[in-house]
Amino acid sequence: MAISSFILFCYLLISLLSHAASSYMYSEDRRDGLFPEILREEAVTRLNELGKVSDAHGYLERTFMSPASVRAGDLIRQWMEDAGLRTWVDQMGNVHGRVEGVNASAQALLIGSHLDTVVDAGIFDGSLGIITAISALKVLKSTGKLGKLKRPVEVIAFSDEEGVRFQSTFLGSAAVAGVLPVSALQISDKSGVTVQDALKENSIDIAEQSLSQLKYDPASVWGYIEVHIEQGPVLEWVGFPLGVVQGIAGQTRLKVTVRGSQGHAGTVPMSMRQDPMAAAAELIVLLERLCKHPKDFLSFNGHSDGSILESLSTSLVCTVGEISTWPSASNVIPGQVTFTVDLRAIDDEGRESVLYELSNQMYQRCEKRSVSCSLERKHDADAVICDSNLSSQLKSASYAALKRMTGETQHEVPVIMSGAGHDAMAMSHLTKVGMLFVRCRGGISHSPAEHVLDDDVWAAGVAVLTFLETHM
Ligand SMILES: [Zn+2]
Repeated sequence: MAISSFILFCYLLISLLSHAASSYMYSEDRRDGLFPEILREEAVTRLNELGKVSDAHGYLERTFMSPASVRAGDLIRQWMEDAGLRTWVDQMGNVHGRVEGVNASAQALLIGSHLDTVVDAGIFDGSLGIITAISALKVLKSTGKLGKLKRPVEVIAFSDEEGVRFQSTFLGSAAVAGVLPVSALQISDKSGVTVQDALKENSIDIAEQSLSQLKYDPASVWGYIEVHIEQGPVLEWVGFPLGVVQGIAGQTRLKVTVRGSQGHAGTVPMSMRQDPMAAAAELIVLLERLCKHPKDFLSFNGHSDGSILESLSTSLVCTVGEISTWPSASNVIPGQVTFTVDLRAIDDEGRESVLYELSNQMYQRCEKRSVSCSLERKHDADAVICDSNLSSQLKSASYAALKRMTGETQHEVPVIMSGAGHDAMAMSHLTKVGMLFVRCRGGISHSPAEHVLDDDVWAAGVAVLTFLETHM
């Protein structure tokens, strides 16, 4: 499906379903054959247990190769072995668990997510995908079907996705995908410890030459799937526990610097000021208007591109999250203001058009106010579109799982966009990717208030199990 029609479809679906029942009714008498003791009770217990493995007292924090991350890795490894998987830790600290199935040389299905967290994190982000995969494989072990998989299945708990410690996301999955630059090993954390040192502290010796050995051979891999909490409100809004991810939004980060004339707050008349603070405020409001109503701003040189506009009007999100001023005193007109812009959209061409229009308009406004401004592009990531076949398999598996759990025919499983980055982005450089989102309460994530219903954890497990059963 084209992106534009997908978004239109999604929009219609949301409009239709927002009136539907907001709670999803799992049937109490349908527990038989759905392994609630493994996929629900044990999975939830393990999520809580892993959620207690923290470097901080009183809140959850696990960063790349920290003591808590290593303990979390050990726990995950035990659970992998309990599910009948052969395990190892690679030179980037990723924890692997693999079962060969009937044909060890067939292309492998990889299932993963990350074991690191943000600071003061919730217990589901990352962990849910790892535990769901292990639990589904444990069910296959308990029913004697693990050895009947027609291809190897490998669960990977990636060591770094959030990038809290080294400000460099995807250290784990980018290494497996072969897209981690060797320079990444020399990035330092706040105390001057490099990635290479952090690994060495944990008896992992990685040299620049050996980094390339971590890369999987694309010919040995069939595809990658990831289960993750949605981290947004759409599934809750439509009243669905599971959703299939159509793609992950592309992203640009800017640093905007506005320079004016620093002066005394009491003596410089308003008409004579070149105030970068007031200018920055105008630019921020401009950004908000452009991102809320891209159709009013983008002309594409008179050739209106309907599909891009449609895509932008439903997927474009822009944020100013950080602002600083110099000298930052209450009685001084600032000399300089800098702020960040985080801009995301599922359509890369559309994102470029917005950036082009934004910079034009920003420079015009700055000129009008006689301040100078500069825009620096600090980070760019293209959108990743999930593989359509893999997505439809995940969709069928989710549909079947929900039908098994409720005993009723359901609405079609929603297809949604991810505004957040995931390991699947890095893994898309290696193989085809697919993602399944799980509803979370209030769309809240990166917070201890993050919550997934026990029944939804179960639904995700049944969906992965159903997906694996198609690989028998
Ligand atoms: Zn995550």
